[in-house]
Amino acid sequence: MSVSDQGYRALPKHEFVAGRLALDFCNTLSRTPLDFDWDRASNPRDFLSWAQRCGIRLERAPTTRALARLQALREALANVFDAVVDEHKPAAIDLKVLNTELAHARMAERLVPTDHGFVLQDGATDAVDRFRHAIVCEAVEMLTDNTRRIKRCPDHECLWLFYDGSKNLSRRWCAMDDCGTRYKVRRFRGREGTSQAT
Ligand SMILES: [Zn+2]
Repeated sequence: MSVSDQGYRALPKHEFVAGRLALDFCNTLSRTPLDFDWDRASNPRDFLSWAQRCGIRLERAPTTRALARLQALREALANVFDAVVDEHKPAAIDLKVLNTELAHARMAERLVPTDHGFVLQDGATDAVDRFRHAIVCEAVEMLTDNTRRIKRCPDHECLWLFYDGSKNLSRRWCAMDDCGTRYKVRRFRGREGTSQAT
């Protein structure tokens, strides 16, 4: 079911809460079996509209083939991030997808001279390719850094992935004013119920 059919009623208030584009991209697909099956990148038009809301400059929607490749990367990324959160070994098939995409991204890199030295730039001419490269490179950066910063919202109706950039790794919720507040309200009501019962 595409989001354009459904509107945004079923989505949490904030669409981009993860703090990292690769994680926001994983969150474009419903992550809980309790939820109905929504996907903000289920078709090229929906993906384009998500990318534009995110501030990514894409001139046009991806082809069906390019979108299928993006969706395959998204699935592999989400599986690997979930494995990290659950402290499991990631599946070889997911790592293979990531490694293949990483090789493509690295192959597109070009050393470009500037006034002060050199910079590495993505030489891919297609904006969707550059998006895919950026996602996989960012994911690799997170996975080769402190993986404890990769987290999943504990709200069982959410389970969105996010990046904990706090000093003491204290971020617990995808968004404090969304799932965090829901939790506080539930806990308060629970306490109220207990105090009324006694
Ligand atoms: Zn959440």
